[in-house]
Amino acid sequence: MSLTAPAPHSPSIDGCCSHERLAITRLLSQAAFAPLPQALIRPMDRRSLPTQRSTRSFADMIVFGSIATGVPGAATADAMAIKDGNIIGIGSASDIEGLKDPSTQIVDAGDGFVVPGLIEPHMHLWSTVLADSWLNCSALENPTFDDVVKRLKAAADAKPANGWVQGQLFDPSLYPGEPELTRDILDQVSTEYPVGVLNASMHYLYVNSKAFELAGITDETPDPPGGKFYRENGRLTGVVGESGAILKFMAVIPMRSQEEMMAGLVAIMNKAASVGVTSMREALTGAVMGPGEVSVLHQLNAAKRLPVRISTAQHALLGNEAWASAGVLPNSGDDMVRAVAWKVLSDGSNQGRSGYLREHYMGQPDNRGEVNMDIDQCIKLIKAGHDAGWQVMTHANGDAAIDMVVSAYEQVLGDQADGKDHRHRIEHCSLATSEHFERMARVGVQPSFLMNHVYYWGRAFKDHILGTNRADELDSVASALAAGLRPSLHSDYSVSPMQPLLSARTAVERKMRDGGEVLNPAECVTPEAALKAITVDAAWQIHADDRGTLEVGKKADYALLSANPWESDASTWADIKVHETRIDGTVAWSS
Ligand SMILES: [Zn+2]
Ligand SMILES: [Zn+2]
Repeated sequence: MSLTAPAPHSPSIDGCCSHERLAITRLLSQAAFAPLPQALIRPMDRRSLPTQRSTRSFADMIVFGSIATGVPGAATADAMAIKDGNIIGIGSASDIEGLKDPSTQIVDAGDGFVVPGLIEPHMHLWSTVLADSWLNCSALENPTFDDVVKRLKAAADAKPANGWVQGQLFDPSLYPGEPELTRDILDQVSTEYPVGVLNASMHYLYVNSKAFELAGITDETPDPPGGKFYRENGRLTGVVGESGAILKFMAVIPMRSQEEMMAGLVAIMNKAASVGVTSMREALTGAVMGPGEVSVLHQLNAAKRLPVRISTAQHALLGNEAWASAGVLPNSGDDMVRAVAWKVLSDGSNQGRSGYLREHYMGQPDNRGEVNMDIDQCIKLIKAGHDAGWQVMTHANGDAAIDMVVSAYEQVLGDQADGKDHRHRIEHCSLATSEHFERMARVGVQPSFLMNHVYYWGRAFKDHILGTNRADELDSVASALAAGLRPSLHSDYSVSPMQPLLSARTAVERKMRDGGEVLNPAECVTPEAALKAITVDAAWQIHADDRGTLEVGKKADYALLSANPWESDASTWADIKVHETRIDGTVAWSS
């Protein structure tokens, strides 16, 4: 079957990741976690760099080895001196020798290469941890649709301990004919246990008859606001679309305990560190457990369990009042956990055929995708964040959604940039045109691209979903640079795998995984530009000017790699191994 009918728009909680939008009202009313200590919520000036230290003070630590600074055009350094977590000297070994005293710790990078810690500017901790223990139903792990069904069946046969067969990351767009996991197929998996499988785009849940029974949903049940139970000839098909409908199942699906959730968060952060990341942006904070999510991150930091720095993007639909009363104010926190951004979600996902398009999807004349709000609501949500002092991040995938969001930013910011350093962003910005980028540049709004769209879905976009002309426009990094913007690259994890060096490679090569063909060579960028988009420019986009390069005055956040990407061919980047990451010069993760 194909999903031709767009689901109705949610009047309340709506966005890209349906299962994140859990019972927010309930969460707001119950204090699930301790309020933030006052010391953590004092706003700090994120824009000022640390004072450059006198080079006459001695280093706590000196790292010797091959050091790529990430500064365009700069030579490789041999030594880096660190004091109080900051870089106080970097250059040749003889330059740095004078910063050594008897107590200075010496670190030898050996045959590894020291590079600036990579920056992941848009990923999801909370939605990921919620479904993390669920079966991996991705096309990566399951080459054929039958493999998905077999995997689910094996789990049912093993009698699941929590009474449910739960799957995630299923993506019909990557299989021939775009097959759905229908109720009839899932009834073959089990009639005894309820089965629920999330689509990788998070916009759909697939369930069997037992799950419908537990949720109390029958053929006669009307569609809820903001959701749809797909039916054929009046009979439920098992495809459940958008948050309003998915929430009915979240109420009966077993959740993990708080300690399990915390362990799961740490595991995701270790995964980020294992690909060289030292700082990242959580891109929809508050959508699973409400504002208490920020407090959980601070608790993990207090317990010294964080292997990466995190900045958060507060869910706009929770409202400034809820965030403020939880002590989460713009720029509150510390250097490990800081609340910086405000997240607005304007449309769905192009590979889920719910990104909002100017023209219909291939093979679906009635489907142009979905917009979650009209422009007035969009302006209102952006303005609420902007006026409160947040950096605004607005999700927009389809070209029509980008039309609306660019106009909304123009309305809020005026015709010209106001000279302030907001660094507002458009997330994914997948089908933006040169005209969009020029307008964005005029008001200072930056794109962050989900570069894996080209690698993992490029073939499907070109052949089945968008057609060649629109697929060519995907993630137009070169056009964004030409308009004078400073794009970043992100994974949107767990929507796609977190692997910044693969994203950068794809920005250079634009090769599609299936067949290796290049998708629109005109949008390929230089290796240096691609590396900036996962280091210094990504750091700038998360308001972390003290990171992204290794320079005097910046934080000593670095990764130890098996090769130096600045001096190796982009085609080899995805094979580079990460040996270790450090934050403030201290080991955060090691292989
Ligand atoms: Zn998104
Ligand atoms: Zn996202």
